[in-house]
Amino acid sequence: MGVPVSQMWTVASYVIGQKLRRRKHYPLVLMLEPLFRCNLACAGCGKIQYPAHILKRQLTPQQCLDAAEECGAPVVSIPGGEPLMHPRIDEIVRGLVERKKYVYLCTNALLLAEHLDRFAPSKFLTFSVHMDGTEQNHDFAVCREGTYTKAVSAIKLALQRGFRVTTNTTLFEGANPAEVRQFFDEMSDLGVEGMMLSPGYSYSKAPDQNSFLQRRRTHELFSTILSNRRKRWNFNQSPLFLRFLMGLADFECTPWGNPTYNIFGWQKPCYLLQDGYADSYRELIEATDWERYGRASGNPACADCMVHCGYEPSAVDHTFSGVAGMWATIRAMLEWRHRDVAASKRLAEAEKTRGRHIELTILGHAADDSVPNKEAADAEAAA
Ligand code: SF4
Ligand code: SF4
Repeated sequence: MGVPVSQMWTVASYVIGQKLRRRKHYPLVLMLEPLFRCNLACAGCGKIQYPAHILKRQLTPQQCLDAAEECGAPVVSIPGGEPLMHPRIDEIVRGLVERKKYVYLCTNALLLAEHLDRFAPSKFLTFSVHMDGTEQNHDFAVCREGTYTKAVSAIKLALQRGFRVTTNTTLFEGANPAEVRQFFDEMSDLGVEGMMLSPGYSYSKAPDQNSFLQRRRTHELFSTILSNRRKRWNFNQSPLFLRFLMGLADFECTPWGNPTYNIFGWQKPCYLLQDGYADSYRELIEATDWERYGRASGNPACADCMVHCGYEPSAVDHTFSGVAGMWATIRAMLEWRHRDVAASKRLAEAEKTRGRHIELTILGHAADDSVPNKEAADAEAAA
């Protein structure tokens, strides 16, 4: 089971409540970005290319808690940047947990072991560790050797201390399905609660523009990976979203489902695009022209996007849209193995090319593992 029953119940009752109130633009997961700076410089990252004065800024705990209250989503995901570089991240997490929000703190885990004492295990707190595949693939994707090994040690420690731990994986062009399945085995052996998957998004700011998956390639890759599934793999995601990635279900994007709040305000329309900012959550929902987004809109920025922040809320919404959605979800859970002969053949081909495409290139970004001085950071945030 990838998600505990209490969390599933909270989310299910919340979505049903929204449906009964006939509220279309409801939030499911708040994407709370308290800062953009990071101690890695991944080639596919669209968040760390800001100038230094922006990377120094961060949200205060009060701003984070106000955003969570204002939005009302039952789940809060804290990506970044690297949230553990925020000097008051423990206060932010504690405040959200006290408000009974299910918090996913997304981290590359390089600082996790030394910061673990700042947090208390709770059913409301999950460390979602950025892991982009087996050791060779992960270190390649994040452009630094040794990162996988360090993250695995931190995962083991967090699990030993009783924390909930999941992984989040972004797959890019060139991913070998056989190696991705090996990675699932490795994470299952570690005992992570569940795994999250998404194709990468072609950020215009990201340095590597050649590696993002087109929609047809995305279907083929994910159906090769996720067909003929092993029972021990747990996914911390909607079963319908996984079918969507495999090309077995189709949804339109619901960008309002994962609203994004960061140092600039409420980002329009989604976690990936920046078409301006709203001063309040209400303004975001009421002033954004939602018809301009999603594949059906013809917006070229959305044409090939299949990223979880746009489509996972669509899959969850479909589950609770009526008998057909509920039945589709039950069927996806019952038919979890997804037997597929064509996918088996593609997997056998992939087995022959394991490791061949990888040329580990470390990009020349400066790394900074330091946590900034608290007073200086507070002064910067207040500026
Ligand atoms: S870990 Fe990589 S992808 Fe995540 S914020 Fe840092 S640089 Fe970006
Ligand atoms: S399709 Fe992707 S890029 Fe476009 S609004 Fe949805 S999540 Fe954002």
